[in-house]
Amino acid sequence: MSDIDGRAVAKALRAEVAAEAERLRGEGVVPRLAVVVPTDDEGTAWYVRSIKKAAEKEGVDCRIEHLKEPGRDEIVAKLQELSADDSVHGIICQTPLPEGVTLAELGWYISPYKDIDGANPESLGRLAQGRRTWAPATAAAVLELLKREDVVLEGARAVVVGRSTVVGKPAALLLVNESATVTVCHSRTKDLAAVCREADVLVAAVGRAGMIGADFVKPGATVIDVGTNPTEDGGLVGDVDYAAVSEVAGRLTPVPGGVGPVTTALLLRHTVEAAELSKTHG
Ligand code: NDP
Repeated sequence: MSDIDGRAVAKALRAEVAAEAERLRGEGVVPRLAVVVPTDDEGTAWYVRSIKKAAEKEGVDCRIEHLKEPGRDEIVAKLQELSADDSVHGIICQTPLPEGVTLAELGWYISPYKDIDGANPESLGRLAQGRRTWAPATAAAVLELLKREDVVLEGARAVVVGRSTVVGKPAALLLVNESATVTVCHSRTKDLAAVCREADVLVAAVGRAGMIGADFVKPGATVIDVGTNPTEDGGLVGDVDYAAVSEVAGRLTPVPGGVGPVTTALLLRHTVEAAELSKTHG
């Protein structure tokens, strides 16, 4: 079994971002990402600082818009303001959101030209149609890892465990668009292990530590572990039982060091793509 090295993929992506950002700056366009943070959650603050640090290292400006205990209308107004601001190319809205507010509803207020984390329902619709769009960065990271590993997707059996709008569904759509034969599983799926064992490519996006055991994996399969589950000692584990599955899988992403770093790098790549697009779409 070999590890799929997400940190190495992220490094390569970030080098590409830095080159693109430099080219755009040479043309007078400073690629800029705006991150709306509608929470005082410390974990979110840490994550957002890590995005800002990564962005600025590669020449992408990052503006953090921290809203203190906002209501729905204040978040909507901020997203509309950023959507109309020509100096901003990419917009993301962090969770957790205030009680009763959903990302699906806020996503409409992010311009599709700046929706670099696929939050606008229009972006998901375009993805379903197989048209050019930005998928949510985590789902896009799944595909990026598979492509950089030269995993054959055309005709492959892929199983995605998890059907959320931010990870499972868009990951499944991306795989379908690559001509894989895709099954989407969820909490009501019967005999999950048997379904998963059919997969040449298995994607776990559930949020349950170690639930994917060796008996879920076909020998030699490629396994992408999206799950991030905090441990009592402050660490992080995936949805895959790494020790057991590494005995069976052909390739496996570790947690940490798999999907996570690629997700951050893709937010930056999508931002420079949006900056390029702004030259023709204002
Ligand atoms: P959600 O909670 O929104 O979705 C979880 C999905 O898993 C649901 O579709 C649910 O089914 C399914 N599920 C729950 N229990 C089971 C079970 N016993 N058997 C089969 N399916 C089950 O989570 P997200 O999609 O937002 O995130 C999934 C994981 O990915 C989390 O660990 C999250 O932390 C991680 N994540 C990682 C990111 C990264 O950059 N690495 C970024 C975003 C998320 P149902 O729909 O029936 O309820």
